[in-house]
Amino acid sequence: MSAVTVAGMSHRFLLRDPLGDVVTRDVVDGRWVPAEGKADTVVGEGLWALPGLVDAHAHLAVERLDYEPGDLEGAMRRARESLAAGVTLVLDKGWRDLTTIEVERHLPPEERPDIEAAGRIIAVDEGYFPGFAIEVGPGELGKVVATEAAAGLGWVKLIGDWPRKGRGPVANFDADDLRLAVEVAETSNARVAIHTMAREVPSLAVAAGVHSIEHGLFLTDEDIASLGARQGMWVPTIRRVKATITQLGPGSSGAKLLSEGLQNVSRLLPLAAEAGVRVLAGTDLVGSPAQVAREAIELGENGLGNREMVEAVSSAARAGTGRPRGFESGGWADAVLYPEDPVAEPEVLSHPAVVVRMGRML
Ligand SMILES: [Zn+2]
Repeated sequence: MSAVTVAGMSHRFLLRDPLGDVVTRDVVDGRWVPAEGKADTVVGEGLWALPGLVDAHAHLAVERLDYEPGDLEGAMRRARESLAAGVTLVLDKGWRDLTTIEVERHLPPEERPDIEAAGRIIAVDEGYFPGFAIEVGPGELGKVVATEAAAGLGWVKLIGDWPRKGRGPVANFDADDLRLAVEVAETSNARVAIHTMAREVPSLAVAAGVHSIEHGLFLTDEDIASLGARQGMWVPTIRRVKATITQLGPGSSGAKLLSEGLQNVSRLLPLAAEAGVRVLAGTDLVGSPAQVAREAIELGENGLGNREMVEAVSSAARAGTGRPRGFESGGWADAVLYPEDPVAEPEVLSHPAVVVRMGRML
């Protein structure tokens, strides 16, 4: 009665974590238990194991950046495909509707990753794509943050800045607004994520205690130091920014600003790792969460060390959201097994040999 039984065979798992220890586990009722007695086979010999990949900036609701209403069938398919690719946690950074929350309700957890999600995205009038976000008026922010925290799954998403015609990106909120949003969200057991591509807004957001900086192209050295001191999260989404530069046209003022921001990101990535910032990989609609390994590799090519790159797509987001690192006795039996050590061979992150979700091998 020790190991998980598949087709009459009991399987034991040898989990060699490139970021941690080697542990041996059996599975009971979908959860890891200490290995005990005999097993017919051992899964994982010669392989490397992570507790699962994490997409820290997803929008499951849609297929690409089109600002359209969510499509539940497609969202459920993307959730299933993500799990098959080894993604066991998605941090969805909100949409115009609550499609992702519906996915979490409709699909049983053994068929999808764990999902944390913001409700509807919060901005101000003219502060985002027209008609997309909730546009808060003066004095309304606290109430709206409370409502969206209650509607979401652990997150609130603010648009920190957005380009205005002829003026470049402009801040949507001031320091007091951001502090209020953090306070209200924390009261509702939610974290705040902020979209920012402008110069002044990252510093306001870091000082206000915002939990996760999305894009954050113009974070400063001081911001990195204070974000690191509280182990805050930063999701640079390099592939998204590059896609937007292409879309804007390389000669445009917007593209020039974003390119300058990307250079700043490359400069900051090694400093951020050093300072204790939880640097995370996020797809942000450049591919589905199933492709998050590509963003991790991109982070590696832009200055993040190999080990930190693997952490960015696995353990760092788990730690940032208060989860155990994985493979603990009593936790869900989740694992993604690789034929090579992903720290030495990052490309292998896109090619898992075996995915285990709640004790079942997919
Ligand atoms: Zn996004």
